[in-house]
Amino acid sequence: MTGDDEEDPAERKMRFLFALRSRGVTDARVLTAMEKVDRGAFVRHYFRDRAYDDMPLPIACGQTISQPSVVALMTQALRVTPRDKVLEIGTGSGYQAAVLAQLARRVYTVDRHARLVREAREIYAALDLANITAVIADGSHGLPDQAPFDRILVTAAAEDPPGPLLAQLKIGGIMVLPVGQSDTVQSLIRVTRTDSGYDYDELLPVRFVPLVEGLGRDG
Ligand code: SAH
Repeated sequence: MTGDDEEDPAERKMRFLFALRSRGVTDARVLTAMEKVDRGAFVRHYFRDRAYDDMPLPIACGQTISQPSVVALMTQALRVTPRDKVLEIGTGSGYQAAVLAQLARRVYTVDRHARLVREAREIYAALDLANITAVIADGSHGLPDQAPFDRILVTAAAEDPPGPLLAQLKIGGIMVLPVGQSDTVQSLIRVTRTDSGYDYDELLPVRFVPLVEGLGRDG
């Protein structure tokens, strides 16, 4: 172990928050949520000393946990309020939903891989995060039983915003999602549902794994 791996936790936290601020995360509530949720709990043991670096890391089922600054920027763009019912598509490690759960009334998170959902549920139970429900499902259909939603966050890239997700957004609701081809740079966009339709803003270039239809077969 080098001195670097033994970094003092308080210093590590300052470095983590500094990286977020330098990438444009300015919302105090989002920064507090990022500070509260220990990313180390959501990564595999052998990556634990990298958990506070601003980089994506591999997780089970060939997926990735997004880099913290992207999690924070997406959360900020979603403008979550304490009364919101939020849907996340793409549970992955479960980290992004845990951050949303600090800011929202209730979070539903969906993944097509049963194993990822089961592992995320265990972490939520261990951390006492009682306002998150993780569901095994193909999120490209949304979650019709719980619709409509105040906010929807998609953490896998589709070529276009999926119709069922647009339909499950409340009027005045906001959806943030990456769009574009999966093997190139995608754009993070924000869709706001109005009385008469949908408004679109382009936010920043991102790179996510693709949104894949159907359930995962590897458990
Ligand atoms: N938000 C996650 C990272 C997401 S990685 C985190 O905080 O760690 C993208 C996830 O989207 C993967 O776990 C993948 O299985 C999931 N995914 C891809 N297509 C999907 C679909 N149609 N329905 C639900 N989940 C999907």
